[in-house]
Amino acid sequence: MSKLPQISRYSKSKKIYIHTFGCQMNEHDSEQMAGLLEFEGFSLTDEMEKADLILINSCAIRKKAEEKAFSEAGRLKELKRLNPDIRIGFCGCVAQREKEKIFKRATYIDLLFGTLNISDLPDMLKRLWHGEKKICQFLDEPVSMKNHSNHCLRLSKIKAWVTIMEGCNNFCSYCVVPYVRGRERSRSPDDIIEEVNLLAKSGYKEVTLLGQNVNSYGKGMNPPSDFPSLLHRLNEIEGLERIRFVTSHPKDLSMDLVFAIRDCKKVCDHIHLPLQSGSNAVLKKMGRCYTVEEYLYKVSVLRDCVPGISLTGDIICGFPGETDRDFEKTLDVIECVRYDGLFSFKYSDRPQTSASKMPDHIPEIVKAERLQRLQTLQNRICSEINSEMVDSELPVLIEGYSKMNPRKLTGRTRTNKVVNLEGTKEIIGRTVMVKITCSKKFNLEGEVIQT
Ligand code: SAH
Ligand code: SF4
Repeated sequence: MSKLPQISRYSKSKKIYIHTFGCQMNEHDSEQMAGLLEFEGFSLTDEMEKADLILINSCAIRKKAEEKAFSEAGRLKELKRLNPDIRIGFCGCVAQREKEKIFKRATYIDLLFGTLNISDLPDMLKRLWHGEKKICQFLDEPVSMKNHSNHCLRLSKIKAWVTIMEGCNNFCSYCVVPYVRGRERSRSPDDIIEEVNLLAKSGYKEVTLLGQNVNSYGKGMNPPSDFPSLLHRLNEIEGLERIRFVTSHPKDLSMDLVFAIRDCKKVCDHIHLPLQSGSNAVLKKMGRCYTVEEYLYKVSVLRDCVPGISLTGDIICGFPGETDRDFEKTLDVIECVRYDGLFSFKYSDRPQTSASKMPDHIPEIVKAERLQRLQTLQNRICSEINSEMVDSELPVLIEGYSKMNPRKLTGRTRTNKVVNLEGTKEIIGRTVMVKITCSKKFNLEGEVIQT
C-alpha cells in the first residue's frame, strides 16, 4: 500500500477505460492491468466517454486484429480533439513490435508500453498526470515471469484465467508471438498453487491455465517441474471443481499428460490441440515438428485413455505454397478427427516471421474460398456431434446469464460445450444435472433435472 498516498491526489477522480483485442492472454493482461490500477486507487469505467485515460490493448497475431486496434485508436483522435485533457494509451503485442514508431503514426497517443511493462503502469500514469508528455516504455527481454496476479480484477466470479507461463520458444514460421512476448518462462508451481488456492477460497469453481505451450511448462526450472505434476497438485485444491488449460502443442503432448487428464477428477475432458495443417509438407514449412500421422496417433491415444474427451483445434488456410492437394489433406484430417470445434484462419503475413519471406504466397481469394469450404465442413460436423448429444444427461457448471438471451442462463459441460437453459439465479456458480433437449450448430439447449 506504500504507493497509494503518493498518487492519491490523482486517483479516485481518474477513470480508466480498457479496450482489449485478441486472445485470452490479452484479456487476462487487461484484467491484471485493471486490478493493478484499482489497487493503486484509480477507478475503472465501462463508459469510454467518461474516461480520463483510454487504454488500447492490441493484438498482433493476424493483420486484421492489428488493424482493428489501430482503427479504434483512430476513432479516439476525434475524442481527443473535443477533449484535449483525455489521455490515450496503446499497449499489447502491436505496441511491443512497433514501439515509438506508433507515435509517428498516431500523434494523439500519449502513452506507449510493451507486454513486459504492465507492472510499470501505475508509475507511468503518475508521470503522465504530472505533466510528462509522450511516455514510451519497453523492455525487450524478460528477466522472469511478471508477478502481479494478486491484483487481478476478474469479470467472472466463477471461472478465472491463471497464467502459468509466458512467451514461446517454438518460432513456428508464421507466428509473431515469440517476437512480441519474448522467450518462454514458467511461473513457480508454488506461486500458481497459491493463486488457485486463493481463487477457490473466494468461491471460484473453475480455472483455465494459460500458456502458449503448456506442455513445455517447467522446462529448465530449478527444482524441476512439469505440467502433469502441476495438474496433479491443482487437482487437490479444495473447493475447485474444474481445471482447463490452453494451449497444448501436439509435439510435446506426453503420456503423462494423457494420464493426468484421465486420473485427475477436476481436469476437464477437453483438449485444444491445434493441427494447423493436414499436409506434412506444409507442417514442415510451418516448423511445427510433428507429422499428421504422429498427430493422429496422439488423438487416438487420448480417445482410448479418456473416452468421450472433446477435441478442438486451430487451422491456418493458405499458408505460403499450400497447394489444392495440401488443402484437401487438411479437409481429410478434419473429417477423420471430427473436431468438436475449430478456430480457422486465413494465413496472415506477419512482419519478422520467416514465413513472410517464403515464396508462393496464396492469393486472398483462394485463401477465402478454402476457409469457406473448411468452415462449411466443420459446421456440418459440429451440428452432427451436437445433435448426437440430445437426450443425454450431463453436469453443467452454470456461469451466469446468456449474452444472446439474457432471460436464459448459460453454462458449460466438462467437454466445454455451451448449454443454455431456463433457471433462477440461485444456481449460478453451481454444477447442476441437465438434460439436453435441443442442439444448435455451436451450442446446446437443456433443462435442469437435478440441482
Ligand atoms: N500457442 C498456440 C497458438 C497461439 S496463436 C499454439 O501453438 O497452438 C493462436 C492461433 O492463431 C494459432 O494456433 C494459429 O492457428 C493462428 N495464427 C497464428 N499466427 C497466424 C498467422 N500469421 N496467420 C493466421 N493465423 C495465425
Ligand atoms: Fe506461435 Fe507456434 Fe509459439 Fe504457438 S507454439 S505461440 S503458434 S510460435
